[in-house]
Amino acid sequence: MAQKKILVTGGAGFIGGNFVQHMVHKYPHYEVVNLDLLTYAGDLSKHLHIEYKDNYRFVQIDITNREEITSLFEKEKFDYITHFAAESHVDRSILEPDVFIRTNVLGTQVLLDAAIKYGITKFVHVSTDEVYGELDFDPNTFFTESTPLQPNSPYSASKASSDLLVRAYHETYGLPMNITRCSNNYGPYHFPEKLIPLTISRVLNNQKVPVYGDGKNIRDWLHVLDHCTAIDLVLHKGINGEVYNVGGHNERTNLEVVLTIIRTLGKSEELIEFVTDRLGHDKRYAIDPTKLEQLGWKPMFSFETGIAQTVKWYLEHRDWWERIINRDANVS
Ligand code: NAD
Repeated sequence: MAQKKILVTGGAGFIGGNFVQHMVHKYPHYEVVNLDLLTYAGDLSKHLHIEYKDNYRFVQIDITNREEITSLFEKEKFDYITHFAAESHVDRSILEPDVFIRTNVLGTQVLLDAAIKYGITKFVHVSTDEVYGELDFDPNTFFTESTPLQPNSPYSASKASSDLLVRAYHETYGLPMNITRCSNNYGPYHFPEKLIPLTISRVLNNQKVPVYGDGKNIRDWLHVLDHCTAIDLVLHKGINGEVYNVGGHNERTNLEVVLTIIRTLGKSEELIEFVTDRLGHDKRYAIDPTKLEQLGWKPMFSFETGIAQTVKWYLEHRDWWERIINRDANVS
């Protein structure tokens, strides 16, 4: 089979990291290059077990650094780019929007320029359902690929801006691309500031678990390994120029998610602490994944099996998340 070279940006992060491992194992004849700046969210220790593999390499580059990106593309001929690198935490975007615009918008543009100049076969831009804004609580309404973009946070506005740039590079310069918009991911190697790993780590340490507002905001949960198979499918089979929503009909309120974890770990519901709601907190996200299913995607995990697997993983990898929590405590 032909050798292909794939650049995975943000491959030291949560989803990009899982995707790197998926590709390295599934496609031994592909060369997988993980490009990451290693911000607070990047962590290479998750890749210790693949570091020795011939088909895996890491390069530390900031995607906004045009000179370094150009010099990389001068040296290497990539077939594919899967673009995960981003500032990804909504709360941080409310406190510090600038870095979100720089990385998510300008960084994407630098990569798009390189993709055009060096003739990439496919650019997959990993985006979010948050670009669609919020839904009300009517359980019959879903985000489809034609839902208008109405982002509500600096994070989702920066992602929507990058989506529009990717679309424009397709229309203007003929960039072969797909955009994927997924719901909230969970699973192994999730940074412990996000709801599910935060809850698991706090419950295991018998600490209070903060829940925004009344806990009734609804998210549609997607296991990260199901997300990886979706990106893999879109990369190889996605129709050029198309957007694909990725989600699994796993809608849960934040409170239901926290209660599920507390019950799975056999702890007290008194650990829950309701805190002041997030500014501009979107009420509900829910994905209609029909278009991706028609391409052949089928998720492996229900929310129940996925949460059970994830809780087990966090129990078995305590050293990983404790090291990250302690590292950040020592920095701040
Ligand atoms: P993450 O924060 O865990 O990882 C992001 C990675 O990008 C980190 O390794 C970080 O070091 C790297 N990075 C940041 N700035 C960079 C820069 N300037 N140059 C190079 N690398 C840089 O994020 P994640 O949760 O893995 O999300 C990956 C992608 O998926 C993002 O684009 C995000 O918007 C999207 N997404 C995530 C979710 C989710 O639930 N986590 C949901 C929808 C969409």
